[in-house]
Amino acid sequence: MTRGRGTSAGRAGPLTDPAGVAALLRYDADRGLTGVDTSSTPGFAGRKTDGLLAQDADAGLIRRAQERLHAHSLRPDGARRALILVLQGRDASGKGGVVRHLSGSVGPHGLETTAFGVPTQEEAAHHFLWRVQRRVPPWGRIAVFDRSHYEDILAVRMHGLAPRSVWEPRYGMIREFEDGLTANGIDVVKVMLTVSQGEQAERLRERITVPEKAWKHSASDLADRLRWHEYAEAFEDVLLRTDDDSAPWYVVPSNRKWYARWAVGRLLLHHLDSMGLEFPAPAFDPAAAEEELDATTALITRP
Ligand code: ADP
Repeated sequence: MTRGRGTSAGRAGPLTDPAGVAALLRYDADRGLTGVDTSSTPGFAGRKTDGLLAQDADAGLIRRAQERLHAHSLRPDGARRALILVLQGRDASGKGGVVRHLSGSVGPHGLETTAFGVPTQEEAAHHFLWRVQRRVPPWGRIAVFDRSHYEDILAVRMHGLAPRSVWEPRYGMIREFEDGLTANGIDVVKVMLTVSQGEQAERLRERITVPEKAWKHSASDLADRLRWHEYAEAFEDVLLRTDDDSAPWYVVPSNRKWYARWAVGRLLLHHLDSMGLEFPAPAFDPAAAEEELDATTALITRP
């Protein structure tokens, strides 16, 4: 285990570097989704207060990594890159909180978020990837998908919206779509947030009992909860059939919200770090430009 980068992250306690976190959280077919302890905090030995500190420290690193992604895409050699982060998970698994954390870290100019809900009439009138393709980020940006094209397997399968002959080929179609993206410089990082039955019950209960959270309550969440094990199977099939080194799945234990937010941030850092991003060389002579700057200071006159 290595120390985290940054002084305040270092103070926060023993924590693992982004590559180490990625290795710990990578989907492992032998262990399976249900083999992951939802209360665990792989790669982080501290407590909640440490986790919040580490999260803050990473916010700056993530912002700077996105700046590098943007600057890299301005290079004259045409080496353009972008990144899509896919978030999936059960109801109340904390997808929204992760999105808020990341958009708070990077800001709207560098990171765009899309929540994929029930398709609108217009979306439903198109190929299932149409609405996803429209949200592929421009060069230099990060797109965070709160649910994604995987709902076109999961929701369709679980709610019986189309026969198996429709959703079954989509595992392959999605992989081809993702391969096309990665081959063109757009990394695809996929995260499954996983919570326990007890934790989901507590979060759903809050929506029922706390008036400010009532707007989040949906009767269909309870109907879906009843089918807990069927959902587990559907998630497992997705992980098993669409995990690939070029578009990997990570399973993030999410009973502790602070851990999930920190861990997804580290996964993002790991992927941005691995992209070999470089700032473009200045297209001017720095010494001459500095002289010019000094000259302007001397020449500024009052009106
Ligand atoms: P969330 O539950 O993520 O906070 P919503 O309340 O808007 O957001 O719910 C989104 C719903 O939309 C989920 O039940 C999800 O299964 C459904 N959904 C998303 N994509 C699709 C799709 N392609 N086809 C059918 N249902 C979908």
